[in-house]
Amino acid sequence: MPSKQVHVREYTVRAHERVIHTRLYKFICKQCNKDVERETYGPRPLYCDRCRPSMTRTEMGKKKKPRPVLVKQQKRRNAS
Ligand SMILES: [Zn+2]
Repeated sequence: MPSKQVHVREYTVRAHERVIHTRLYKFICKQCNKDVERETYGPRPLYCDRCRPSMTRTEMGKKKKPRPVLVKQQKRRNAS
């Protein structure tokens, strides 16, 4: 496989403040299928304020259990 070295410039983004604006979205709620309006900073919402799952709930659901560390196992031979 051919390969070459490329130079990757280092760059950092300093902490900064910026003004973001809310947008008023008119959409149909996925849950109740109602024509609703919602003002949000983020992307187009899927659910109205009523059906929107609570943040804490989603946070809980996202939590992953720590994976067990793989330990090399010696192949067991049939003793006895
Ligand atoms: Zn809804």
